[in-house]
Amino acid sequence: MPTLPIHDLIIVGGGPGGLTAGIYAQRAALDTLLIEKGLPGGQLNNTDTVENWPGTESIKGADLAMAMTAHAKGCGLEILASEVVEIEPGLNAHTIRLDNGEELHGLAVILACGGHPRQLGVPGEKENYGKGVSYCAVCDGFFFRNKRVIVVGGGDTALEEALFLAKIAASIHLVHRRDAFRGGMILQKRVLAEPKIQVIWDSVVTDITSDDAGVTGVGLKNVKTGETKNLGAEGVFIFIGFEPNNRLVPAGVKMNTEGFVVTNKKCETSLPGIYAIGDLREKYIKQIVTAAAEGCIAAQAVAHFAEEQKAKA
Ligand code: NAP
Repeated sequence: MPTLPIHDLIIVGGGPGGLTAGIYAQRAALDTLLIEKGLPGGQLNNTDTVENWPGTESIKGADLAMAMTAHAKGCGLEILASEVVEIEPGLNAHTIRLDNGEELHGLAVILACGGHPRQLGVPGEKENYGKGVSYCAVCDGFFFRNKRVIVVGGGDTALEEALFLAKIAASIHLVHRRDAFRGGMILQKRVLAEPKIQVIWDSVVTDITSDDAGVTGVGLKNVKTGETKNLGAEGVFIFIGFEPNNRLVPAGVKMNTEGFVVTNKKCETSLPGIYAIGDLREKYIKQIVTAAAEGCIAAQAVAHFAEEQKAKA
């Protein structure tokens, strides 16, 4: 049994899911601590514009992140800027270890650690990261003003980011491995109507070439014809999906084959008192609004769980 104090709830991760969980937990009078190693708001900080947050037709991702953080703090949520290195499940409370060696304890833990961009895994990708290879148009697009850029992927992120880059770069080649986009229809229409974007269908990037100054282009292969060619560019932006940040998920918590945490409708994992929300969680669709909804669900579930645990003690 750990020494006191034991928080009712520790939230690991401060994206839209974690912050919403914090707001609901504060309103449920839970003694809550949110731990975030970076900027609260998570991936919102790398998002140019959000157009599907109800009630707000269009808002910069960073502005929405700040508004959510201010809202959570306004509810009294304590946000600790620190890195969690381990979560050890316990019978009466769970232990959270920080990189400075400190240990914190929570009756319940909400895992809201999100995810990170998937890599292509082709030669030249790792070597040229930061020298022309990027996974964030909002962060790095500025460096490609009037330059040639290749965007890889066919989902919402690739389409959105290609449109963002079209405002900056001289030209965009959007390389997709199939002959139909996965992303939503509105984005598809915008991309196909954008004169600066040329789509290369049915093709994969085989390698990324460079010289001393940085990226010079990519090798392409048409997956239907087998034809190969080189395409010159100074920038390669890769948006081919997402992998969960599951490094901190304790042993015993069930994950699916892709490493996303499996939960029930209350966002409970297979270990009592441990919940998962947002992009870390196995689910149908990853959106700001779904992450926020799960933050609400998990916090409400924790409120009942904490009450039961305290009644037992
Ligand atoms: P995604 O929907 O999983 O799309 C990934 C894309 O990359 C797919 O087109 C996929 O091709 C392609 N791909 C995957 N692995 C590849 C590889 N090894 N080589 C080449 N291409 C590869 O991922 P996402 O676009 O990052 O979106 C993630 C989630 O966030 C989705 O649920 C999405 O709807 C959501 N999102 C929503 C918005 C919005 O609503 N405004 C914005 C951004 C993201 P295939 O199509 O052939 O599988």
